[in-house]
Amino acid sequence: MNFIEKRIVEDGIVKPGHVLKVDSFLNHQIDVALLDEIGKEFARRFENETITKVLTIEASGIAVACSVARELGVPVVFARKSGSVNLDGDTYVAEVESYTHKGTNRVIVSGKYLCPEDRVLIVDDFLANGCALQGLISIVDSAGAEVVGCGIVIEKGFQEGGYRIRNLGFRLESLAIIESMDAQTGRIVFRAQE
Ligand code: 5GP
Repeated sequence: MNFIEKRIVEDGIVKPGHVLKVDSFLNHQIDVALLDEIGKEFARRFENETITKVLTIEASGIAVACSVARELGVPVVFARKSGSVNLDGDTYVAEVESYTHKGTNRVIVSGKYLCPEDRVLIVDDFLANGCALQGLISIVDSAGAEVVGCGIVIEKGFQEGGYRIRNLGFRLESLAIIESMDAQTGRIVFRAQE
């Protein structure tokens, strides 16, 4: 098991509805030493790529994105949920269905912070059905920039997001891929990765 898989087994809580809670180290309380390791690992995996921006979505992707961006020496841009923001000028917009809160969020990035020259690494904490990643990919497309790849801390491999994103031809690196998890027993099985 790698460092994320170990931490999930130790501290993750499987909830009904195919939700994994990682509030004690990633989504509410944050273990910054673990966050540093996550940043280093993504930087290592994408070390042969030229990356100019790390893009994520408000709110839970921001910490992960900052850790990766610090390693890469580039800025983070996070797509903002429209209710919380009034952006001037050109904006890139996507509709993203929320997995955990249900309902749809309109997410926005200012035209000032993504340009056609950008080579973008998209980062998020979880991948479930792929709506968040697809929304972020469409924002990068709207800017005329390029998606270098996607980095996910925890992919739920039994949901279809991973298949969708890889099938679209994007490089997707997930630090842990959960093959199955059981809310009654708490048992979590990971997909073997190199
Ligand atoms: P997707 O858009 O791929 O369906 O879902 C990904 C988004 O939903 C992530 O940004 C993440 O915040 C949230 N999410 C999806 N599944 C889970 C989960 O099992 N646990 C937690 N904590 N968040 C999740």
